[in-house]
Amino acid sequence: MSSDPIIFDRSDGQELRINMIGSWLKKEFGRKIVKLSIDGGFTCPNRDGTKGTGGCLFCSDSGSGDMASRVDASSIRTALDDQIRLLSDKWPEAGYIAYFQNHTNTYAPADHLRELFYAALEQPDVLGLAIATRSDCISDEVLQLLEELNEKTFLWVELGLQTIHDETAQAMNLCHTRSDYDDSLMRLQSRGIRVVTHLILGLPGETKEMMLDSVRYACRIPHLFTQRPCEPPPLSAQNPCEPPQLFGLKLHMLNVVRNSRLPSLYPDYVPFDSIDEYTDLLIRAIELVPPQITIHRISGDAPRPALLAPDWSWQKRTILNEIHRKMRERNTWQGRCAPTL
Ligand code: SF4
Repeated sequence: MSSDPIIFDRSDGQELRINMIGSWLKKEFGRKIVKLSIDGGFTCPNRDGTKGTGGCLFCSDSGSGDMASRVDASSIRTALDDQIRLLSDKWPEAGYIAYFQNHTNTYAPADHLRELFYAALEQPDVLGLAIATRSDCISDEVLQLLEELNEKTFLWVELGLQTIHDETAQAMNLCHTRSDYDDSLMRLQSRGIRVVTHLILGLPGETKEMMLDSVRYACRIPHLFTQRPCEPPPLSAQNPCEPPQLFGLKLHMLNVVRNSRLPSLYPDYVPFDSIDEYTDLLIRAIELVPPQITIHRISGDAPRPALLAPDWSWQKRTILNEIHRKMRERNTWQGRCAPTL
């Protein structure tokens, strides 16, 4: 375990002790990179009856992407142009990643996906794609398309795992399991495709140690489990000590939102009592994440009018500042408690 703090970025007048994707992309591309949220008009097998109905209990009608522009292959170019025009005053030199965010963005025939993803790449300032999906929705044809896209552009695939605990997954009606995730992760990574794993902190019924075990599992350090030991992920079957191949991790608190089923089934449920409680746990999680893994989110971003709980989670800037302040004060950093690999 290293004793020297790792500082990932010193720009913007502050030390960044987390390997945030924004800074990583800036170094990688040599300029600011902005994600453009796109709603490709998909649905989800957990809504249309294929795997389940009603969706994950925390998911809003929009499929967890309330800020995205709705597009199809013929309108995506105009939508991207419009978003870029709005942002170019603020960031005239920026490049962009088209982020297919809403619902399940590989849940369609590969030909349809091909048309949509390639149409996004025709915008000359779009330098890559980010595609959010479920781990049980990557057919062999889709995998082949993703492999092809990965050779042509900068790509990551975001897999919604949310929790490694199957009893929570069942209670939240996720209708997928940890082994679905393991399988997709292995299939994507074996083709060299970057994967970002999405976890939610504060799901009902989970202790903080259970949440941290999900982080350990996603980072492939199951030997550090403090509670319920799980089978190690099969990814490193040949060498369980090989460096983590996960590209990124997206972590945030559960947001209880209107237009989801959670409030009626868990009335008055509040995931964390205070910003202080959440930021303490988040920092413990970040300390476990090896420094090579990029961090894509550390706070929620539910629109304030839709938010029921926690009633402070819309204060994103305050939460981020508090995390960075506490990390400096405690002289800690991402990976401080991760094993040396
Ligand atoms: S969170 Fe994702 S997988 Fe769950 S219902 Fe919403 S779109 Fe489907």
